[in-house]
Amino acid sequence: MSVERSASAENHTEKTETGATNFLRNQIRDEIQAGQVESIVTRFPPEPNGFLHIGHAKSIWVNFGLAEQFGGRCHLRFDDTNPAKEEQAYIDAIQEDIHWLGYEWSGNVRFASDYFDQLYAWAQQLVRDGKAYVDDLSPEEIREYRGTLTEPGRPSPYRERGVEENLALLEGMREGEFDEGTKVLRAKIDMTAPNINLRDPILYRIRHAHHHQTGDKWKIYPSYDFTHGQSDAIEGITHSLCTLEFEDHRPLYEWFLANLPVPAKPKQTEFARMNVNYTVTSKRKLKLLVDEQVVDGWDDPRMPTISGLRRRGYTPASLRKFCDMTGVSRAANVVDIAMLHFAIRSDLEDNAPRAMCVLNPLKVILTNVKADHDEVFEVPGHPARDDMGTRRLPLTREIWIDRDDFMEEPPKKFFRLAPGKEVRLRNGYVIRCDEVVKGDDGEVDSLHCSVDFDTLGKNPEGRKVKGVIHWVSAEYSVPVEVRLYDNLFLEEAPDRDKDADFLQHLNPASLVTVQGIGEPALAAVEPESRFQFERVGYFCADRHACRDGKLVFNRTVGLKDSWAKIQQKQG
Ligand code: ATP
Ligand code: MG
Repeated sequence: MSVERSASAENHTEKTETGATNFLRNQIRDEIQAGQVESIVTRFPPEPNGFLHIGHAKSIWVNFGLAEQFGGRCHLRFDDTNPAKEEQAYIDAIQEDIHWLGYEWSGNVRFASDYFDQLYAWAQQLVRDGKAYVDDLSPEEIREYRGTLTEPGRPSPYRERGVEENLALLEGMREGEFDEGTKVLRAKIDMTAPNINLRDPILYRIRHAHHHQTGDKWKIYPSYDFTHGQSDAIEGITHSLCTLEFEDHRPLYEWFLANLPVPAKPKQTEFARMNVNYTVTSKRKLKLLVDEQVVDGWDDPRMPTISGLRRRGYTPASLRKFCDMTGVSRAANVVDIAMLHFAIRSDLEDNAPRAMCVLNPLKVILTNVKADHDEVFEVPGHPARDDMGTRRLPLTREIWIDRDDFMEEPPKKFFRLAPGKEVRLRNGYVIRCDEVVKGDDGEVDSLHCSVDFDTLGKNPEGRKVKGVIHWVSAEYSVPVEVRLYDNLFLEEAPDRDKDADFLQHLNPASLVTVQGIGEPALAAVEPESRFQFERVGYFCADRHACRDGKLVFNRTVGLKDSWAKIQQKQG
């Protein structure tokens, strides 16, 4: 059925803002035009067992985005049926992430646990209808009796228990009379069904666990399958949009809706998970990185979590754009991380003010600049954005440049500084390197250069100066800690081999910290402000570490656009 649906939608496909396709959008538009649905209601249903990652950003964008586009509503519902793995801290972080992405859920925050009473009443109803039974088989036996893809299952010896006995046992399970693992409630559907999900799926398990929402009220917890569709129905969800691994569960989803007196019949449609290369998107694996202290918490700027991306310097707009660019389809897709980089780079190119920061400082003494030289260049905050005003760059006798911008024995095409060569100081004068001063170890200690004061904003007469380098005044500058982040994994698909330890692919150089020197304007930055450090890359003031006068910048992304190159090659 889903194949038919997506195929028909493909016939009149329209593109998203960035030119990608989104079959859900086309499908819903068709349904609205055909009068099949008036107003859509979607939901984002995270399990609060970790922080949200980039894949969840996609799901949020899909669910909230479609609701927004078609004037519908989107609920936030925590899918909280597994108290052992869930925490209030995750519930709080998830809400913060959704808000930060720029979305607002309709009504209160909802919890599947809000419906535990109703779900229990429906379970009793199934028992009374002869459609559910209490099974005493152990979990291993249940697995064994279930059969395989090629062999049918066998009925449990407890399958034919009477209604009254089942009701009493279920009540006993709820009252906490039985130990964990000794009994389950199962739907009585078909042990020989080709779809294993229909072979008498488990509805309730005994778990004597404290729940973050319901406290100690429950000794049994409903399974995901018994919870999800009915919660959708209770909330009047019209479109239950989920990832493809739930496709095989759809017949069960529909079986519950057909066999219970639910107030609405939501429709489940699956789309492909979004994965990004050089990263892992599984809360379980991300939790391992946190627990093993491979990273500095869930929001470490190397994490593909929404909070990690935020700390790295990503903007909400860039993540939404990335989701749009990658589109929605039913074909499994691994997105190139270069595309994510492209999304933030193009945002920051337009919107981040410029600043100069030297990461690997080399002292330059401008021999013809007096010690009391008093000159300030007033330069644009952004080359194309007058609204960003100007910033002040004082020129002093001593300045810092980047060591990489000097070579004692330069190759032919080196247009930066070298003995006897000229280069322009960005936003300032042309200087010439007259003398290289070395320390006792033979290393270059500083350079003596002279300024050509007749070159501000124009080329020196008769000479062509090709190179431009960034610099900061030694007297008026601020020390900054710069954290150079790179991919966390060296391998494109770190978890491709299911049996191998994905941690073996960690990039040992995913974080390199350097002490840099920034232009004076950086002294006043607020946490989370973003800059292009000219000629270096895009950086964001760390939202936690920038305090008490300390300046810490995270590299968000470099200046070079590899995505455009990849596209050219493909195009
Ligand atoms: P994980 O494996 O990381 O724990 P999950 O699917 O178990 O992911 P949930 O909290 O259950 O995590 O997910 C909430 C919603 O987000 C679900 O509807 C799920 O389908 C969707 N989702 C999760 N990962 C992705 C992804 N990579 N791409 C698109 N949607 C996703
Ligand atoms: Mg899940």
